[in-house]
Amino acid sequence: MNHEPTIFDKIINREIPADIVYEDDLCLAFNDINPQAPVHVLIIPKKPIVSLAEVDEQDTALLGHLLVVVSKIARQLGLDSGYRTVLNTGPDGGQEVYHLHFHLLGKRPLKWPPG
Ligand code: 5GP
Repeated sequence: MNHEPTIFDKIINREIPADIVYEDDLCLAFNDINPQAPVHVLIIPKKPIVSLAEVDEQDTALLGHLLVVVSKIARQLGLDSGYRTVLNTGPDGGQEVYHLHFHLLGKRPLKWPPG
């Protein structure tokens, strides 16, 4: 399902600036404005998907692509000792921006479980 435009649509359309680290036809990755680790990158599809709760089979290849991009960026940034990939979904999942996005966090040890 498509969504109301969010701040991430404005970043995709270059209406507001972002520190972009990767782009291709399907997705965009940029540094989080409020980083929770020395590396904190957001990876978003250009397709306006609200959240993981809204995806269907049509999105299978796109979701796989996003994870391959996460892996590429992690390699490029030298996250050799590991990293965390987070996808918050809905109010209980802590989602604040309703445009699906993966968080890529790294360059510090991360505790488990998250809060
Ligand atoms: P969520 O809580 O929805 O999983 O994550 C949303 C993330 O987007 C947060 O980590 C927040 O810091 C980040 N964010 C919100 N607005 C902006 C913005 O305008 N620019 C960038 N680069 N990040 C943003």
